Amino acid sequence: MTKAELKKRVCEAIDKRAEEIIAVGDSMFKNPELGYKEHKAAALVEEKFKALGLDYRKGLALTGLKARLPGRQSKLSVAVMGEMDAVVCHDHPNADPNTGAAHSCGHNAQTAMMLGAAFGLVDSGVMNELDGDVVFFALPAEEFVELDYRQKLRREGKIAFLGGKQELLKLGEFDDIDMAMMCHLASNHPERQMLIPGPGIGSTGFIGKTIKYVGKEAHAGGAPHEGINALNAAMLGLMGIHANRETFKDADSIRVHPIITKGGDLVNIIPADVRIETYVRGRSIDAIMDAGQKVNRALQAGAMAVGAEAIIDEIPGYLPLFNDEQLATLFASNCAELLGTAGVIPAEPMAGSTDMGDITHIMPGIHPSVGGVTGSAHARDYLIVDPDMAYVVPAKAMAMTVIDLLFDQATVGREIKEAFKPAMTKDEYLAMWENLLVIK
Ligand SMILES: [Zn+2]
Ligand SMILES: [Zn+2]
Repeated sequence: MTKAELKKRVCEAIDKRAEEIIAVGDSMFKNPELGYKEHKAAALVEEKFKALGLDYRKGLALTGLKARLPGRQSKLSVAVMGEMDAVVCHDHPNADPNTGAAHSCGHNAQTAMMLGAAFGLVDSGVMNELDGDVVFFALPAEEFVELDYRQKLRREGKIAFLGGKQELLKLGEFDDIDMAMMCHLASNHPERQMLIPGPGIGSTGFIGKTIKYVGKEAHAGGAPHEGINALNAAMLGLMGIHANRETFKDADSIRVHPIITKGGDLVNIIPADVRIETYVRGRSIDAIMDAGQKVNRALQAGAMAVGAEAIIDEIPGYLPLFNDEQLATLFASNCAELLGTAGVIPAEPMAGSTDMGDITHIMPGIHPSVGGVTGSAHARDYLIVDPDMAYVVPAKAMAMTVIDLLFDQATVGREIKEAFKPAMTKDEYLAMWENLLVIK
């Protein structure tokens, strides 16, 4: 059978399950869960993996699932991945009333399209004519949030990294994978289009920080002179960060965006315990570390001004994303088949970050964006308006790309693997975080 015939079969199989794929996406959209807590999503993925008769493992990095579908030979392993976690957006119409979690980053669509690709590749029987394996991966915790909660998980030894892919990498779950693909929904992009990343840096990377200002409590009316105001220290720290912004170079895309997560205990007590979380983002590790030093200096200066103490915890963030050019070109040609050439446009480099960046330092990977959505990512107005585009088309595009990679001795896939020059090995990756940051 020709490659074109295999692709036709896989797309027909996906079309037959379109309703089910959309139902998965909708169900997750209505049941948003934050990272490392994606229990309902994981149960849904498990149900589908089981029904497909896939050989899978679960509970990876707490909530992740991984299934392997073998080809007639195993010359290459390609991962088709989907994230499961939501963000907090209390005002989103589908926000969980208890946790505020909402799928306003569209990760529900990622799980749906990953399963869609699995339906197509299993139902069509095309794997009997392909010379490599596919790994379907349901991934936890892409959003780098709830730092205190995840730091607690780290202290308890349940995770070592705050990002799900990072944790899975450390656990060796990427050791048996040669290349990885996933799609992310776009922002404010209702059109039936795929946004394909060009060569070079596709996103910023970052480090995380949690800051605890320790002051001294005192009666705010009766004896403020006996206290040390940790909130004032924090405010001066934040002002110090702002005073450094003019030193950030445009080309480095530095972003520092702190929030105060605790501003005091009671209004009539001088605050003695104030907490801040922040990222320091940038387009290179050097730029991130340089800005990170300035941020620390400013935060400490705030403490020094009022005699408080600043305890800064450095947390491994994510690395900048590098999309593999050949993989992106293959994927784009499949998208053009599905959507026409007007349906394929270049993506802007992301100013956000993703732990897919970490993966692309070690193996070839792509992270294109998908239309069919209105509203801004992470905002209350984020909605999927074209479920076929958001859920079904990317499932087809990924399954078709798997066929390209694994067809005829997996020649194309093996070429991509051989041409890829990893920025670092897994061991170097783990050592880098240990050397750059104190992992507590
Ligand atoms: Zn997001
Ligand atoms: Zn996202």
